[in-house]
Amino acid sequence: MFYTHAYAKTVVFFSKNLEIQVFAWYSIVELLYILVHEVKALLEDDKTADIGGDSLTLSSTRSMKVSLEAVRSGNAGLDAHRQKMLDRVPETGDWAKFQLNSIELKDLAYLTARVGDEFALLRGKHEDILFHGDKLNCRLAAFENDLKMGKYTLEGHSHPGEEYPVPSDGDRDVLKKIGQKKSFVISARTGIAVDFGQDKFEIL
Ligand SMILES: [Zn+2]
Repeated sequence: MFYTHAYAKTVVFFSKNLEIQVFAWYSIVELLYILVHEVKALLEDDKTADIGGDSLTLSSTRSMKVSLEAVRSGNAGLDAHRQKMLDRVPETGDWAKFQLNSIELKDLAYLTARVGDEFALLRGKHEDILFHGDKLNCRLAAFENDLKMGKYTLEGHSHPGEEYPVPSDGDRDVLKKIGQKKSFVISARTGIAVDFGQDKFEIL
């Protein structure tokens, strides 16, 4: 009864104002989107546990979350491979070339957990490029032409603050600008990664 009443009230309230209505639908769609990904992550996590037993589990979303938290709080350092990466791009705006396919999306999450800034991974035909951004952005202006011409693809970037990474409008604008269909964003808190396209509600 309470719910029916609350629902009726809500409907009346929403129908009064189109703007609120649009916003409500927008929020519902966004919530569903997040829910689907959370459930997916959980299912994948369980699958890893089932197949892996305890000694064979390579990585699961949950264990990555724990190790990211350890790095973020300073209780653990980076492994040698990742520390070497960071040593080559210690400051915001720094970038460096690495061997092709030597950097993975999850490396970005660990680097972000360590220093708090976003990192981006660009991939060419012969090399990986690691870019050290700031707390909110990766300003890739120096690579704009090469990205537009397809010399590099923007494989992904990391977000420091969100448990579940949400691509910003700016992130989508970058894809539009460089004419790329999709890229990934990974959370430095949980290791959850999602792909995103140029438009907000496009099905990839
Ligand atoms: Zn972003």
